[in-house]
Amino acid sequence: MSRHTTTGAIVFSDLDRTLVYSPSALLLEGADESAPRLLCIEVHDGRPLSFVTETAAAALATLARSRRLVPATTRTVEQYRRIHLPGPPPAYAICANGGRLLADGVEDADWSRAVVDALATTSAPLPEILEQLAGLCTPRGEDPFVDKVRQAADLFCYVVVKRSRVPAGWIDEVTGVARERGWEVSLQGRKVYLTPAGLDKAHAAAEVVARLGATTTSAAGDSLLDAALLETADAAIVPRHGELIEVGWSAPRAQVTRHAGVLAGEEIAAWMMERLAPAQV
Ligand SMILES: [Mg+2]
Repeated sequence: MSRHTTTGAIVFSDLDRTLVYSPSALLLEGADESAPRLLCIEVHDGRPLSFVTETAAAALATLARSRRLVPATTRTVEQYRRIHLPGPPPAYAICANGGRLLADGVEDADWSRAVVDALATTSAPLPEILEQLAGLCTPRGEDPFVDKVRQAADLFCYVVVKRSRVPAGWIDEVTGVARERGWEVSLQGRKVYLTPAGLDKAHAAAEVVARLGATTTSAAGDSLLDAALLETADAAIVPRHGELIEVGWSAPRAQVTRHAGVLAGEEIAAWMMERLAPAQV
């Protein structure tokens, strides 16, 4: 039995553009003098990279103390560890889009292995996808649109593109190549993610639910990589920006925030507080 056995409600949340926001994703409107105060929760290469509002930070600290907030991110473990949310570290965190599970900050090697074994039966291997991408990412004409191709955790990969220069139909072409091989594509900002269809946050979330003995789940997320997690939760919330909104995604138990950008993150933190009964937080 897990050290964290409990009952009741837990909340899963994506991080980037759901709870935490880079300067280009803040989407602050109105006069600068009325902008909310921000807390920097991630530094990269010595520079501030991700922020939450001060109000969101207070809610996140309370949620963290409840140990019922489970971050669920596509970031690798290394990228995740750069983020320092307010409050104590979570009991569980889902990284690498479900390919890694951290229990009290320690990677569960059995989970990592089980994911790799399961993916081997359903999706083409990563090297085959990288080979296909190499052909799809060669410069066309004089306007190169691919900045770099990166693999993550030996599980999936992403292409960093110049959005304005991406040729018409290129995303569809990549999606076709990916789907033929049991992979999915998600477009977020300048990154085009390619992930094996079986690698999803919902699968890892089900494992966390079982370990915690949770009876009710809530989820927050902004991209197609969050869709399965949002659809399987008892209640879900989506920020008023991002890929899910752009593609017209909806689900019966999902609501959309009133604000976009970092203020949506603040709304989501407040919503998570409501979802966890006051007595439990
Ligand atoms: Mg996101």
